[in-house]
Amino acid sequence: MLRLSGVGVSNGRAAGPVVRVAEPLPEPPASPAVTDPEAEAARIPPAAQAVADGLFARAASVEGDAKAVLETTAAMAMDPSLSSRAEQLVNQRAVPAPRAVLEAAGEFAESLRATGGYLAERVRDVHDVRDRIIAELLGVRPPGVPALQEPSVLVARDLAPADTADLDPDLVLALATEEGGPTSHTAILARSLGIPAVVAVRGLLAETAAIAAEVDGDSGAVELSEERVEVRAAERADTTDWTGSGGTSDGTRVKILANVGAAADTAAAVSARAEGVGLFRTEFCYLAAEDEPDVATQRAAYAEVLEPFAGKTVVVRTLDAGADKPLGFLDTGNEPNPALGVRGLRVAFDLPEVLDRQLTAIAGAAGDSGADVSVMAPMVATPEEAAWFAERARTAGIARVGAMVEVPAAALIARELLEVVDFVSIGTNDLAQYVFAADRQLGALAGLNDPWQPALLRLIAMIGRAGSETGKSVGVCGEAAADPLLARVLVGLGVSSLSMVATAVPAVGSAVAGASLPACERAAETALAASDAAGAKAAVRAAFE
Ligand code: PEP
Ligand code: MG
Repeated sequence: MLRLSGVGVSNGRAAGPVVRVAEPLPEPPASPAVTDPEAEAARIPPAAQAVADGLFARAASVEGDAKAVLETTAAMAMDPSLSSRAEQLVNQRAVPAPRAVLEAAGEFAESLRATGGYLAERVRDVHDVRDRIIAELLGVRPPGVPALQEPSVLVARDLAPADTADLDPDLVLALATEEGGPTSHTAILARSLGIPAVVAVRGLLAETAAIAAEVDGDSGAVELSEERVEVRAAERADTTDWTGSGGTSDGTRVKILANVGAAADTAAAVSARAEGVGLFRTEFCYLAAEDEPDVATQRAAYAEVLEPFAGKTVVVRTLDAGADKPLGFLDTGNEPNPALGVRGLRVAFDLPEVLDRQLTAIAGAAGDSGADVSVMAPMVATPEEAAWFAERARTAGIARVGAMVEVPAAALIARELLEVVDFVSIGTNDLAQYVFAADRQLGALAGLNDPWQPALLRLIAMIGRAGSETGKSVGVCGEAAADPLLARVLVGLGVSSLSMVATAVPAVGSAVAGASLPACERAAETALAASDAAGAKAAVRAAFE
């Protein structure tokens, strides 16, 4: 038995046989040169089409997010620019077709990486499509998750959305990955399936002799064994207490809301019985836009998202452009360190008219839909910035205005922030990255971005106290809110609304309903007193057992 450790990102313990997600194929060689380049090049489009057909066929048998992910990957496989560039390489240099696909995809990925941020995250998808087309050309099994025959623990370097979109949750006991972080696709997927997961497990892939594993999503431990172990599934989070109206067992109201990025996400939020939307990431509507959409276009796009929530709370975040989500029409130039650059609200200081047009569109969409709309600004650093934003939002006719707390300075000065806005919402993904000076996208730094880190919790406690002193509400809309156990701690720290990926809503709503406010407060004290993330989580779990 060998014990490795990583970062637990989805709670529970499970054990069973290991199934390894196939690693990418070896790099296809550039030689020998092909004798008939034209015929070789002609093999590429049908191979890409076959990959797309296979993904579309899988998409047809599933619904919701899984369908969208598979269709997006299929569309990427059919992208004519990838195929035609690969054909061109075969014709120009007589390289074999698999090699040409590798090189063409490499160029495509490089241009996405150069764009940076959110588009750079799509590099993982380009590599996935590339490997599938190469496997098709070589006539071998594509990399990725093999069809599971029995309940198994999946072991991988990291998981791509298309690897996991149609996984059968009854056959996946747990996930363990060598890379990935608390906000990675693997983490979000595991929480939505309700299975334990540990990411950033250094040395995991080197243990090729292990045939079974026990994964502890609470402590982050992964035990590998060369002998079979008794199969044990994690207890599924109890969601029976979720009534659709959030609060603790002794009646303290806690709103349980969903995060949405575009109209496609709203169905999941409604079916999870979210009480509304705590974070509408408006920039997700425009990641591919070259030009600023006019007010009427924006108004229609926002109204489509708001309509299912008539009469309910929706917090619309103004464009959070820059860093990991660059927008074509808000080019902030070449910055040496974009995460610390002109991003979020900072973009609006130079282009206030873009913000004003967006606020006008949001106010119009609020009226069109009948939703109870507030707005909030991303990446606020000072009360002065928050006041500047609040004045513009109120001028546009939006009554309730808030600021996100993602910058440590904003957390430290939360009291003064709350004097100029109606509420704050804590973005724990960015707050953790800036508190620990640790890029949230780097698997190697996943431990620092663990939202159970007591240093992060102590900052959240400060913000919670500022909320109770000023009588204003404090929410959390980062991934921390999607962890049912941590949700209780956040409530104990004074947080009065939690907003998360829709699939986590029932489990978090139930967890909050299953604890009293004094118990949450005691749990919060316990977590604050810990000196590390694992200790905080273990102590809180013990407190509720
Ligand atoms: C956050 O930073 O926690 C947040 C909710 O914003 P985003 O993830 O969109 O940066
Ligand atoms: Mg953020």
